[in-house]
Amino acid sequence: MERIYIGMGSNLADPAEQLRSAVEALGQLPQSELAGVSAFYQSDSLLPGQPRYTNAVAALDSNLAPLDLLDALQAIENDQGRERLERWGPRTLDLDILLFGDRLIDVPRLKVPHYQIQERAFVLYPLAELAPADLRLADGRSLTELLAACPFVGLERLPQA
Ligand code: ATP
Ligand code: CA
Ligand code: CA
Repeated sequence: MERIYIGMGSNLADPAEQLRSAVEALGQLPQSELAGVSAFYQSDSLLPGQPRYTNAVAALDSNLAPLDLLDALQAIENDQGRERLERWGPRTLDLDILLFGDRLIDVPRLKVPHYQIQERAFVLYPLAELAPADLRLADGRSLTELLAACPFVGLERLPQA
């Protein structure tokens, strides 16, 4: 089994319910066990004019191959009504593979670690609830260092439902 962290986001059609459904679907994946889910956070969209996002991170232990996991995550997105209209458009559900063990993956469909982990407070803070503080990204920086460089601005941690 490898430890995988999955970033979840939604800003359409009852975002918190979308994330709860996604967590349930992750728990049903073959060859996999759900190991934890962060609190839910709200933040403004990176692009102006979109509804606020609800985000969370899930930890999954899995024997799935990375591209098989990506297929499964995209199937869950589609099941929950994801439409791909414009890049970074509003969406019912987005599931990104943030980290996959300590693998570096760079193929056209899949780049791991996800390229914007360190830029995004709505990824780093929920990730930090689940991952060890000494976890390091490919550039050698620890989660603790990344958090120190990424202020908790514009984020709201929601009370546990
Ligand atoms: P961003 O990547 O900036 O968060 P996004 O999540 O809105 O943007 P999508 O439209 O959901 O982007 O995905 C576009 C493509 O990104 C997917 O079809 C997938 O093949 C590819 N992709 C590359 N790396 C990853 C990854 N680590 N996790 C999920 N998808 C990835
Ligand atoms: Ca994304
Ligand atoms: Ca995505």
